[in-house]
Amino acid sequence: MVSANQSNVVRALRLLALAAVLVLGESQQEIREDAKGGAELCDRERTRLARELLNQYLFPLIDTARFRLDPQRCRLHPENDMLLRQEEEKVEQENGLWQCRICRKMFREEEYIDKHMGNRHPQVVYPGATVCLADLCDILHCDAVERAVQKRAPPSCQEQDAQRRKHLCQALSEACFPPDQPLGQKMNEFFQRQFCDAHTCHEGRKLFPEGQQKRGRGARYFVLAGLGAILLALFYAGLFLYQRDLAKQGKGRLFSSRHAARLLHLRKHKKQ
Ligand SMILES: [Zn+2]
Repeated sequence: MVSANQSNVVRALRLLALAAVLVLGESQQEIREDAKGGAELCDRERTRLARELLNQYLFPLIDTARFRLDPQRCRLHPENDMLLRQEEEKVEQENGLWQCRICRKMFREEEYIDKHMGNRHPQVVYPGATVCLADLCDILHCDAVERAVQKRAPPSCQEQDAQRRKHLCQALSEACFPPDQPLGQKMNEFFQRQFCDAHTCHEGRKLFPEGQQKRGRGARYFVLAGLGAILLALFYAGLFLYQRDLAKQGKGRLFSSRHAARLLHLRKHKKQ
């Protein structure tokens, strides 16, 4: 009887172990399926670099100038970025894992979740978004930035190649900042200084000479800081008034109790 029970338990444990192996094997298989895939049409890593350069050296500055890009004319408009929607569905967690917000799946490396996005969610795109920002890397100086980060020496400069990039840059600038629009001419000149003028073999041309800003910081930061200061001042004013009232009430009570005592004393004297 006991031995029959034991053999049942052993059989159950074996079944459980087999199930676990099957489930694990399946999920491993699934991850491999998600992570494999042919060459993508648009390079995600270069796209991220191009996007980052725009987020640092262009968008905050045109926000400050209150210029609005037209998505119909300007390839740089975020709505035209064909990988942005998928990028927004990736979450890097504190433990270093990546989660897909569409299907909740977890990944150990960004590379795997990138491949998963390409294989499983290629339809997640902003409507009409067809621009691969990596294709604009020539104009946006991705290679020069990457070289500077990795401290690599630049290759020998070809003036003809530099001129070709400059023309592409100027054409992009004119499409995004049409001179016939309000502020268009001013923004066009700004973009040329910031991105186009450095496409030359002449020394001394600085990349992004107009500087950088973190998007979302700036104006909003100062408004919040101002609000904080006002709230703090109101709090201390309230505290001061409250304490003054308390002190007054305290004096009032003291006065009235003394007054009452004196009245009592007078009454006693009257009675006597
Ligand atoms: Zn997913």
